[in-house]
Amino acid sequence: MKTESSYDVIIIGGSYAGLSAAMALGRSLRNVLIIDSGNPCNKQTPYSHNFITQDGTPPAEIARIAKEQVLKYDTVTFYNGLATAANKTEHGLEVAASTEEVFKAKKLIIATGVRDIMPDIRGFAECWGISVIHCPYCHGYEVRNERTGLLANGDVAYETAKLLTNWTMDLTVFTNGKSTLTPEQTNHLKQHNIEVIDKHIDLIKHKDGYLEHIRFADGQVFHLKATYARIGFEQHSGIPMQLGCQLTEMGHLQTDMFQKTTVPGVFACGDSTTMMRSVASVVASGNMAGVMANKELIDESF
Ligand SMILES: Cc1cc2nc3c(=O)[nH]c(=O)nc-3n(C[C@H](O)[C@H](O)[C@H](O)COP(=O)(O)OP(=O)(O)OC[C@H]3O[C@@H](n4cnc5c(N)ncnc54)[C@H](O)[C@@H]3O)c2cc1C
Repeated sequence: MKTESSYDVIIIGGSYAGLSAAMALGRSLRNVLIIDSGNPCNKQTPYSHNFITQDGTPPAEIARIAKEQVLKYDTVTFYNGLATAANKTEHGLEVAASTEEVFKAKKLIIATGVRDIMPDIRGFAECWGISVIHCPYCHGYEVRNERTGLLANGDVAYETAKLLTNWTMDLTVFTNGKSTLTPEQTNHLKQHNIEVIDKHIDLIKHKDGYLEHIRFADGQVFHLKATYARIGFEQHSGIPMQLGCQLTEMGHLQTDMFQKTTVPGVFACGDSTTMMRSVASVVASGNMAGVMANKELIDESF
């Protein structure tokens, strides 16, 4: 049966960014509904790093503590489920959930994150976040000075390889097919003892996500401890685009410095809005979105 409830603010996405926004709003006495489908991008990572007070804590534990603290504010409600649609109305917005329920609010905060697109390499997805790493600031220290790979191509491979020399000098770039690095880039990498291998990768051999070796299509194997990978992403939810929110060239939701999207009354925060993917960054943007949504509500009623 279709039911309807009204809130000051609905937050779609109840991970770090969404919970951070909810805390600012709960502390501002706002009636808030968080809708979350429980599928954060870092769910496979055993330990999260580089977030002060929680360095080395499992990601789900950080979210659990955050949720517990946020739900102490009795104006905040958490709804486990998927938001399936949203639209603007005369008085604000309506959000539909997969259970047929419809929720109304004056403001909407999108904190739905992004979905990483796994390349078609056997073993890659199983190692993602464990020994196939997205970011050296999050996991580089743990594999410092180890024999490490970088799965990337072109300018991105060059720039990332340069960055990674801060953590290891035993680095190999795997382009998984024809290299699109320029001869100058390849030479410069060579001067730093970084080899570029352009063979197709057949398989990432691992045990419980911990890499043992990479096997190329020609059968040759390459032993290493970990590999970084630069892969594509897409918005986790189509709802912001459905509402008309504009995307940047890179595919993030376009926001101003107050986390306002291009659609009035709709804010966005977290990974869906930035390439600076870290718990610390998204908690900051969530806090800003919560504060600014509250300010807009005050301005409109004063
Ligand atoms: C493999 C990996 C390892 C990482 N390790 C670290 C680390 O060690 N340290 C660090 O600081 N950062 C790390 N990060 C980055 C960090 O995880 C992200 O920056 C952070 O999770 C982004 O938070 P978010 O709230 O924006 O999105 P997410 O955490 O991805 O959460 C988005 C939430 O929105 C929900 N959602 C999406 N669509 C809907 C919908 N339609 N309805 C309801 N709910 C919806 C999802 O289910 C999910 O719960 C890592 C990232 C990855 C991919």
